[in-house]
Amino acid sequence: MLPEAILFDLDDTIMAYRSANTQTWAEVCRDAAAGCPTVTGEDLDQAIQAVRRWYWSDPQRHKAGRLSQDQAYRDIVALALDHLGNPQGLSAAAIADAFSRRRTELFALLPGAEATLERLASAGVKIALVTNGEAAKQRQKIARFGLERFFKAILIEEEVGIGKPDEAVFRRALDDLGVRGASAAWSVGDNLEWDVAGPQRVGIYSIWCDAARAGLPPGCTIRPDRIIRAIGELLE
Ligand SMILES: [Mg+2]
Repeated sequence: MLPEAILFDLDDTIMAYRSANTQTWAEVCRDAAAGCPTVTGEDLDQAIQAVRRWYWSDPQRHKAGRLSQDQAYRDIVALALDHLGNPQGLSAAAIADAFSRRRTELFALLPGAEATLERLASAGVKIALVTNGEAAKQRQKIARFGLERFFKAILIEEEVGIGKPDEAVFRRALDDLGVRGASAAWSVGDNLEWDVAGPQRVGIYSIWCDAARAGLPPGCTIRPDRIIRAIGELLE
């Protein structure tokens, strides 16, 4: 039984996003360090990963960073280079911008995602895209993969001025779709706080997309109403 409406997340739910990160940082670090006698690509990659974990762990910093992503990457690399004693010949901006460019090239739809959206839309399900981050970046992905046609509403954090997991963004999505009760909608996404706990507080049935098959993290108090590996399972 399909619901009247579904609110979909974009990154790592419809589109492969995080998987592109690890590979890209490793490649960019290897290339950058090739011209530097004192630091290896692995040293640089490890220093960047350590700063990244710290940087994105704070919700306020996360929000500022995701709304100014290119600058966030430059700041992260600059801090990592600081930790390495600022090796000569390495530029934080050049490394960060190379990362942004190369990662963008690797973006791809997850297998089966497009066919699933197609079938849900043809079945008459009202579909909204609810995504955090910068308008230009998210709009670029939507256009590149021709996703606009599936959505009756698109809510991007920078455009609407509110982001997940703020309850207001889920209410706004239901309003935009013309859905009266939250219980008529599902939320589907990979982020436990943003795509599951947030919409559950509004009364939306919330499905966690655990593509990595990692299971709930130890000590996690969030309880998804359903767990799937890929959005194609919604049709089963
Ligand atoms: Mg996501």
